[in-house]
Amino acid sequence: MIRTGIGYDSHRFAEGRPLILGGVPIPHTHGLTGHSDADAVAHALTDAILGAAAAGDIGKLFPDADPRWKGSDSIQLLHMAHAVVLAKGWRFVQGDVTVVCERPKLGGFFPAMAEKLAQALEVSPEAIGLKAKTNEGMGWIGRGEGIATLAVATLERIP
Ligand code: MG
Repeated sequence: MIRTGIGYDSHRFAEGRPLILGGVPIPHTHGLTGHSDADAVAHALTDAILGAAAAGDIGKLFPDADPRWKGSDSIQLLHMAHAVVLAKGWRFVQGDVTVVCERPKLGGFFPAMAEKLAQALEVSPEAIGLKAKTNEGMGWIGRGEGIATLAVATLERIP
């Protein structure tokens, strides 16, 4: 038995914040704002696995209003969300992620990001697809106001 989930996340750029995507610090003029470390890649993938298991979403599991999750390492949140999925009888098989932003260029960071995400989900890095797109200069992404991320995840029933 196989199930598929979809996830989406976006965060606004701000000065004086670190840029962390897929658990990897990325040198850039701006970072992302958020209650946690604002890791839009980890957040979208987290929602994808939770969605596939019909286990709610990241906001339900780790509410913004809860001081426990302030400044959280989102790779750790992904791992904890996977524990919820496992408890429901499903395990992560494969995920695919698209990051949309004009800058910075992310391709060089994908192997390290796949490694981090795979560790959190207890799979090999080959199970994680990562892609980057610009928004062709259009809209808020085109103006460099933030980053959007889309993710899908496949789960299989634990025998
Ligand atoms: Mg988020």
